Amino acid sequence: MGIEQIEVYKVSLRYSEPFKIAAGTSTEANNIVVRILTDYEAVGWGESSPSKRVTGETAKTVLQAIDRIAPKLVGKCPLRIENDVETMDSIVPENPAAKAAIDMALHDILGQTARKPLFRLIGGYRTEVLTDITLGIKPPKQTAQGALSAVKNGFKALKVKVGLNPFEDVERVKLIRETVGGETQLRIDANQGWKPEQAIEALNKMGAYDVQFAEQPVPAEDIEGLRKVRRDSPIPIMADESVHSPEDALRLVRAEAVDLMNIKLMKCGGILKARKIAAVAEAAGIPCMIGCMGESELGIAAATHLAAAVKNIKYADLDSDLLLRDKLVKKGGTEIKDSVRTFPKAPGLGIKELDHQLLGEAVRAFK
Ligand code: MG
Repeated sequence: MGIEQIEVYKVSLRYSEPFKIAAGTSTEANNIVVRILTDYEAVGWGESSPSKRVTGETAKTVLQAIDRIAPKLVGKCPLRIENDVETMDSIVPENPAAKAAIDMALHDILGQTARKPLFRLIGGYRTEVLTDITLGIKPPKQTAQGALSAVKNGFKALKVKVGLNPFEDVERVKLIRETVGGETQLRIDANQGWKPEQAIEALNKMGAYDVQFAEQPVPAEDIEGLRKVRRDSPIPIMADESVHSPEDALRLVRAEAVDLMNIKLMKCGGILKARKIAAVAEAAGIPCMIGCMGESELGIAAATHLAAAVKNIKYADLDSDLLLRDKLVKKGGTEIKDSVRTFPKAPGLGIKELDHQLLGEAVRAFK
């Protein structure tokens, strides 16, 4: 049993509206899709949604990394995932978003080979996943209106982007809480936008508005700052940009810097590494969230299978497909109703049909 061919596609997916966070504004996601064919009927799909800001990757560097990796994977067994990931790591030590696409496709093949939905093969802890929906940065009144319409559309958890102006951020959170009432879960994400002392002040003020946790208040490399904010904040602190790998997770545990961690397939290199981060965190009593950054329904399906499978992934911020106007997956993927994602009865990731126009022709084929 072996990998027979690896095809690579470039896709551009437009956001419904410009998506603004503390670190910048996005109008489209430039993603890379891979399709891995085997010498039996299983065909695996994977997606890379690179972020220059988070891992230094672009569509171009993802293609370059896959150019080096793919020839070495052709002929290998797709089910020896630890071994295949070791091969990828030995060829390109960085480039996690590139490797995530291939890891995802290998997991899709695993599910198809076993004829089971992926989440059932890698833990099967839960059968549905509640996701929040993210509100980008807009003036407080506008954000509160957006929050209200999200709640009216069935969302039970909101993630509010902050981090540009701490005074306005407090105002934003206050107004949202007053507008949506007490039932809705509210989380915030500063995307490294605050200094530690600003974070401590803002979080203490936000303590009155029942905020579940605060993501990455200070710059990624400022572990000491994170530790200080955690010590003086009434709101639990989650690492996002500070945790890419299982090694980063261990570093944060040792520094006692955070209460929670946000895992993303694009930061860590895929499902295999994500499970290792969740395990390190679990051993330290630290719950995890699974997040996303610009993936279509394809990458979101992979992340949702992981979230359902693993006990210690207790929260989900899997909404990037909902923020995109262009829909890459025409049939299959996860289903969503009232902020809860479920799985169709299909093996692997359950991807049945992609939009051929968005996918276009393969830009590479390795065999
Ligand atoms: Mg974040």
